[in-house]
Amino acid sequence: MEIVRGSINIRTESQFEVIDITSKVAEWLRSIGAEDGLLVVYAPHTTAAITINEPESGLRQDIVDVIKEYFRPGGSWRHNLIDDNAHAHLAASFMGNSRVIPVAGGSMTLGTWQAIMFVEMDGPRQRRAELLFIGGRKPKVPTQGA
Ligand code: ZN
Repeated sequence: MEIVRGSINIRTESQFEVIDITSKVAEWLRSIGAEDGLLVVYAPHTTAAITINEPESGLRQDIVDVIKEYFRPGGSWRHNLIDDNAHAHLAASFMGNSRVIPVAGGSMTLGTWQAIMFVEMDGPRQRRAELLFIGGRKPKVPTQGA
C-alpha cells in the first residue's frame, strides 16, 4: 500500500461557481498509476466546498441559488462585521470541504451521473484541491538500460 499526494490548481472566475473537476482528478489518478484504494479530494479553504453530484448546468445554478437563499450573502451575520463573506464560511461548513471516493482498477467508482465538483462561494480566487490516494499502484515498468 502506498500513499500519494497531489493537487489541482483551480482559477475561479466569479463569486459563485460550481466547477466539475472530475476529469482532472481522473487524469491525476492515471498519472500515478493508481489501482485499488481510496481517494480523498480536499479543499484547503474556508469559503469553498467539495461536493459529488450531477454536473448538469441547471443543477449547478440551482446549487448556487440554494446557497444564496439559505446563507444570505450580505446578511446580518457577525462575521460580516469584520469581513464580507460569512455566507461562504457558513455554506462551506454545512457542505463540507472533502469527499472520499473508492478507486477500483484505476478508476473512481462514481455512479453514472456523479461528478466531483468544486464549489466556489467567495471568488474569483486562485484555489486548490488537494488529492490523497491510499492504496495499490501498478508496478513500474523498468526503463531500458536502467
Ligand atoms: Zn471571512
